[in-house]
Amino acid sequence: MLIDLHAHSTASDGTDSPAELMAAAQAAGLDVVAITDHDNTGGWDAAVRSRPDRLTLIRGAEFSTLAAAPGRMVSVHVLGYLFDPDHRAIVDEQARLRDERLRRGLAIVAKMVAAGLPISAEQVLQIADGAPIGRPHIGRALVASGVVASVDDAFASHLAGPGSFYVPKADTALDTAIGMIAAAGGVSVIAHPRGRGEYRALTFDRIRDLADHGLGGLEVDHPDHSAAERAELRGIAGRLGLLTTGSSDYHGHNKVLRLGQDTTDAETLARLIGMSSGVTVPVGPVGSPPW
Ligand code: AMP
Ligand code: FE
Ligand code: FE
Ligand code: ZN
Repeated sequence: MLIDLHAHSTASDGTDSPAELMAAAQAAGLDVVAITDHDNTGGWDAAVRSRPDRLTLIRGAEFSTLAAAPGRMVSVHVLGYLFDPDHRAIVDEQARLRDERLRRGLAIVAKMVAAGLPISAEQVLQIADGAPIGRPHIGRALVASGVVASVDDAFASHLAGPGSFYVPKADTALDTAIGMIAAAGGVSVIAHPRGRGEYRALTFDRIRDLADHGLGGLEVDHPDHSAAERAELRGIAGRLGLLTTGSSDYHGHNKVLRLGQDTTDAETLARLIGMSSGVTVPVGPVGSPPW
């Protein structure tokens, strides 16, 4: 049973349309895939319509949040699964984040244009094609204009870190996002909790507090995690009774990752589905696996 619970489409910063993502999941031999675009559910309907018969689809989203760490705020991503997409708080917050991503994307592009880089706001909007703007869209514009060779290079030289063109955005508070997902009948799982500096905010005590306030699990097996980080996270999840998921965080050609690179076991998925009440589950083959 191959289960990948974290993948992006063109509804955010992936390069496969939702239909292409479904086809790619089947071609990769997956039994279950979750569509988890950043801060929106715009790809759900197309994914449902194009789902191959033997593939189970889990509907989700990756919520951009901010969490307090000593002396600074840290970006933490939270995967929400099987929540009601029409829940008021989620609809309102996703609309606010779409505007915020547009404002911030245009601010990054304006800084680049002022520095003489040959890209434009129109070009980035065209690449995003209606999706909420993410830095990978700007990275693709830099690749198309010959400034860098790849989106990875764009992140290394232009889009992240001190001295880059990075502009922050006002993401949802971590506790608010977890509360919103729970209120909408969904299950929350912290995405790559050791991926990029999240450890500053996600101490054991903080994770325990989040678990007391509705957090469902930790994404333990993720391409950005070392063996030691996976072991540490598995230990924390075990002590707190949290789900441990695994996934690829597939983004199409924007990142060098394979669907199914890291996976979740079937029993964990069955528990996750059992904890949800937001959207109806039969999104896959009837009569198969334990759900
Ligand atoms: P944003 O949501 O606009 O802040 O952009 C963050 C997104 O960029 C995340 O979805 C990551 O998947 C993606 N990302 C982060 N680092 C890299 C990288 N080195 N190469 C490609 N994509 C990246
Ligand atoms: Fe992304
Ligand atoms: Fe993420
Ligand atoms: Zn992701």
